[in-house]
Amino acid sequence: MARKKALITGIRGQDGAYLAGFLLERGYEVIGADRRSGDSTSWRLKEMGVEGRIKHIYMDLLEYTNVMDVIKEIRPDELYNLAAQSFVKTSFDQPFLTAQVDALGVLTILDAVRHFSPSTKFYQASSSELFGKVQAAAQDEKTPFHPRSPYAIAKLFGHWTTVNYREAYNLYCCSGILFNHESPFRGLEFVTRKVTNGVARIKHGLQETIALGNLESRRDWGYAKEYVEAMWLMLQQKDPDDYVIATGESRSVREFVQLAFGIAGIEIAWEGTGVKTRGLDRSKKKVRVTVSPEFFRPAEVESLLGNPRKARKKLGWKAKTSFEELVRIMVEADIKRVGAGMLF
Ligand code: NAP
Ligand code: GDP
Repeated sequence: MARKKALITGIRGQDGAYLAGFLLERGYEVIGADRRSGDSTSWRLKEMGVEGRIKHIYMDLLEYTNVMDVIKEIRPDELYNLAAQSFVKTSFDQPFLTAQVDALGVLTILDAVRHFSPSTKFYQASSSELFGKVQAAAQDEKTPFHPRSPYAIAKLFGHWTTVNYREAYNLYCCSGILFNHESPFRGLEFVTRKVTNGVARIKHGLQETIALGNLESRRDWGYAKEYVEAMWLMLQQKDPDDYVIATGESRSVREFVQLAFGIAGIEIAWEGTGVKTRGLDRSKKKVRVTVSPEFFRPAEVESLLGNPRKARKKLGWKAKTSFEELVRIMVEADIKRVGAGMLF
């Protein structure tokens, strides 16, 4: 039997690396759609040990003809659209670019699929950011959306376009509404990795403090390595559908920071962080965390908590790694990397 062919956009990103590894293990031929021509190195794909096993193809979501040509040529069995300008804060500075990639990019791919490869099963990387100013204590597939950033608004367009192409053209399209998922492959701009990399640098004497923004915001944080299996499971069902993927547990940024420092065995004092410092022995504890206005957003998503019941029931998927384990995995990986001289 011929190997199944999967095309992954955003192959160099966190999820792209894990998904590539997951699909290769299952015997897929993996083609990485890559916006950069020429140099095909990537630290994530290298660390995963999959770099040489992926065929790279040049495809930028902003190039309509380029996308059409690639889909016409590859005609993949499964297409995972993970490419995005994925950082919420940047989307406030670059709303047009974000809309072009995260909204129109999805439309471009889906239109190419409709015309040139209608049997392709399509996965869209939607986000819990769609819920934004949340309308229910725990958010599921029926919770109304209230996006709070240009990123979330663009992703909302991508989500509804995916639903519409399923309903209008009978394509196999799924939208995975994934809550935050982290790992040692997470980009350094995101708060979790910023903290674990900072903790590792402090541990090795390369840095004194970490400057952060809103410590009170809460996220439903899961382990990215497990979340890519949910993407794949969505495309193995009889009928296409949309699913919330989450742990069902919500923690604050402050909790993440406390755990990360604790795991590294570093005592912390907080400055300007709203934590009472009265009685703190400053001679023993160094200020390790400061709060800077630079890292606040014009509109914040204060709290997210997913209800993954549908995924559990229909896909048989459940998050396995606890919050504490996740923080440990990330802190230990970064301490090891920094110790080995791998500096970001
Ligand atoms: P990531 O690490 O930021 O990776 C995004 C990838 O998209 C990068 O490889 C980037 O390419 C690529 N890309 C950006 N603009 C492109 C363009 N114009 N054409 C082609 N490729 C482009 O993101 P991630 O954490 O793996 O997330 C994967 C997807 O899930 C994203 O769509 C994200 O928005 C969504 N999502 C993520 C989370 C999460 O918690 N991680 C939660 C919900 C949804 P370069 O490598 O060349 O920069
Ligand atoms: P997001 O949920 O996709 O926006 O993921 P992030 O990791 O970028 O942010 C998660 C939460 O952490 C948001 O509510 C941010 O406001 C908050 N946060 C607090 N300090 C920081 C920081 O220094 N960097 C980032 N990226 N987020 C921060």
